[in-house]
Amino acid sequence: MKSKQVGVIGGGQLAWMMAKIAPHLDLELVVQTPQSDDPAVALAKDVILAAVDDGAATNKLANLCHWITFENEFIDLEALQSLAKQRVCFRPSLDALAPLLDKYEQRSYLKSIGLPVPKFTNLSAIADLEAVTDFPVVLKARRHGYDGQGTFIIKDRAELTATWNRFQCPPMLLEEFVPFTKELAVMVARNAAGEIIVYPVVETHQENQVCHWVIAPAAVAERVTQEINHIARTLVDKLQVVGIFGIELFLTDDARILVNEIAPRTHNSGHYTLDACDISQFEMQLRTVADLPIKTPKLKTAGAVMVNLLGYENSHRDYQSKRDRIARLPHTFVHWYGKTESRPGRKLGHVTVLLSASELSRANAIAKDIESIWYE
Ligand code: ADP
Repeated sequence: MKSKQVGVIGGGQLAWMMAKIAPHLDLELVVQTPQSDDPAVALAKDVILAAVDDGAATNKLANLCHWITFENEFIDLEALQSLAKQRVCFRPSLDALAPLLDKYEQRSYLKSIGLPVPKFTNLSAIADLEAVTDFPVVLKARRHGYDGQGTFIIKDRAELTATWNRFQCPPMLLEEFVPFTKELAVMVARNAAGEIIVYPVVETHQENQVCHWVIAPAAVAERVTQEINHIARTLVDKLQVVGIFGIELFLTDDARILVNEIAPRTHNSGHYTLDACDISQFEMQLRTVADLPIKTPKLKTAGAVMVNLLGYENSHRDYQSKRDRIARLPHTFVHWYGKTESRPGRKLGHVTVLLSASELSRANAIAKDIESIWYE
């Protein structure tokens, strides 16, 4: 076993961005991912070509690595538990992940530790459906949802019934629709010594349940920042997390903060840290996992806006000329994940624009300028 190898379950863009920083920390990444053209494969030291929920493949990964971490939570927890008993070092631990993998269980866990969440219930019988009186409501697949896939905003009972039936009536998370004024997010990391660092709170903009852009830092009252910091610290402390988590939140018009979702890994809302912070979320994950020193990251500029480059057609194009046009904008960094296939809604890359203090108020307009080049 080589002490400097970190195994990563998942080989998408998050692992790809982790793989870029690994050599600077004297670490090597081995990824477990199903496709040989997944982004991280080209940069990884070694690859286990297998599904992320293939426990036998993770056993092979464990034989090559000192620690195993995650870029994807669609894992088979039970299969991994037998490996943990054989002293495979998962960071975060499987105990920290266990309450978070299912959206209903995650909500129940957050409530049990006193964190504020939207009102929710488990939809598992007709009676649950008939008990709903206030619409709209939000219906969510309990597992394997991402980028709004598996999340449905439902306007009335007929639509609720039809949507549930379409999925053949599995248990699903049913929750109040939160008429938020802003969506916020924060990254929080904790190491094995119990040191916790919290990144700046950011504002995220979703369209049709998919994140389009992120503004860092969020323009919110100090009380909001403090409360979110408290939520972040409470969560990683209770779970004894070693690693980094993303937390998505709603801010309501009566200034309440509600936790929407926890991502037990790096997160799209933290991509701005690559260019705008002295320690990116990917470096922070590796530092906590490999017991390297951590410190509170600092913004290198007054702020930043991160815009996702989402697929808008089925194609094999590489969009080089659009990327070049965007890259010529001032203080702009284009990150292209090298995916060989574009599909509508697929994350193909992202752009970060660093902002001076006088440009902060233009963040939305700058995001729209980039989108008008990308989607033109
Ligand atoms: P995913 O895991 O697919 O990202 P989320 O639960 O984060 O799903 O939902 C995606 C988006 O849908 C959120 O960012 C938000 O814009 C919207 N959304 C989700 N839940 C609610 C809710 N309870 N009330 C209002 N909007 C919601």
